[in-house]
Amino acid sequence: MMPLHSFRSSDDDHLREECGVFGILGHEDAAAHTALGLHALQHRGQEAAGIVSLNKDQFKTHHALGLVSDNFNSASVIGKLTGQTAIGHVRYSTTGETLLRNAQPLFAELNFGGLAIAHNGNLTNAMLLRKQLIDRGCLFQATSDTEVIIHLMALSRCNSIEDRLVDALKQVEGAYSLVILTKEGLMGIRDPLGIRPLALGKLGEAWILASESCAFDIIGAEFVREIEPGELITITENGVRSSKPLPAAKKRFCVFEYIYFARPDSVIEGKSVYDSRKRIGAELAHEFPVDADVVVPVPDSGVPAAMGYATASGIPFELGIIRNHYVGRTFIEPTDQVRNLGVKLKHNGNLSVLKGKRVILVDDSIVRGTTSKKIVHMVREAGALEVHMRIASPPTTHSCYYGVDTPERDKLLAANHSVVEMGKLIGADSLAFISIDGLYRAMGEKGRDAKSPQYCDACFTGDYAVSLTDQLQGTVHVKKQSA
Ligand code: SF4
Repeated sequence: MMPLHSFRSSDDDHLREECGVFGILGHEDAAAHTALGLHALQHRGQEAAGIVSLNKDQFKTHHALGLVSDNFNSASVIGKLTGQTAIGHVRYSTTGETLLRNAQPLFAELNFGGLAIAHNGNLTNAMLLRKQLIDRGCLFQATSDTEVIIHLMALSRCNSIEDRLVDALKQVEGAYSLVILTKEGLMGIRDPLGIRPLALGKLGEAWILASESCAFDIIGAEFVREIEPGELITITENGVRSSKPLPAAKKRFCVFEYIYFARPDSVIEGKSVYDSRKRIGAELAHEFPVDADVVVPVPDSGVPAAMGYATASGIPFELGIIRNHYVGRTFIEPTDQVRNLGVKLKHNGNLSVLKGKRVILVDDSIVRGTTSKKIVHMVREAGALEVHMRIASPPTTHSCYYGVDTPERDKLLAANHSVVEMGKLIGADSLAFISIDGLYRAMGEKGRDAKSPQYCDACFTGDYAVSLTDQLQGTVHVKKQSA
């Protein structure tokens, strides 16, 4: 399938988290709370959203393209999603044509009853499994990798739904945090490496599963704990049951969640995302100091790192770039020409801060470099004497196959250029990226353990935590929709 036009925002020079998941059991306003939870997770995917609820033995579904607040805001929609249990999903995806068909939660009637599944992550052998399943006569509705799990469950000879799920997951590779709804209750499970996040919360008597703790905050729920890598949580009206049915592996959580994807007010693995970003900025200041007058963040994602840099360096933090939050998302097509225009639409230099100053610009990452080039130019146009760019992640040299939308390697600036070359290309007086060990130090480690890394950092190191079967076997001939 050829990639179609996607509805990307003008702020297109970032990696994109592709999904957020939410589930709740035991609340009379389950669907409304799911909509609120998804709203808090909107940063994890803005192009489609869906909720499936369960009322006695009836499943109710609603999916829509666009934002949660635009599609799950009326009594007519929420009112039809009846029942005390619901799951939901927000997604960002890379193709247009099958967008609504691929919107999750996916729902299927299997021989044991209805099943709805919401997935954050990406299966790295999904295309191979899909081909094998099609050869066995399975019919696929769309191109989502998640659909493979449904077919594997349907074909499983295990008796219980839990065992069928585990049987299916033992055949898949890749990253997954799943929330699943059946007539028996709610299930949540993370892949053995725990690449993508998933947490357990509680609101009164109701239990909740969500990608990030900010989804608990919005509904006044308490954070209970993270779901552990490889852990299956089964929630019924009798309570929560935990098991570890998948082979044990060393945890490799996605370090980019701390750098950019997760919301700053979320807490993951006991670490505040906001504080982590400030520590990364401070480490960056220690590693790559520069004599300058102001530290300016590229808003919004560069703000906490810039604060950390400013505090550590003693150079004043100033808002030298103002972001327009009202740039439309859906009218812009992803051509290079419009991408470049998009930066002008979204950001403007603040002359009173920038004029006559030596500026340290702090951003979270450089992907294609289109945004950085425009921003550096804009800061110079506003009268800056020098522009020194500091990046709160190591150079992004590799694509992600674990649930994050990344350009192909040949589009990644750092994959094809040295840091000096990149600095020249974006027009900065100097450019520096935090080192991989510096990043790990900011995360509270002594450095990266090269033999057994503490996080997934493949987009910086090429050290992929889970095998890339589809890539290696050349089976990625259809543009895959990861969840
Ligand atoms: Fe995260 Fe990068 Fe690993 Fe993808 S490759 S899971 S973005 S650290």
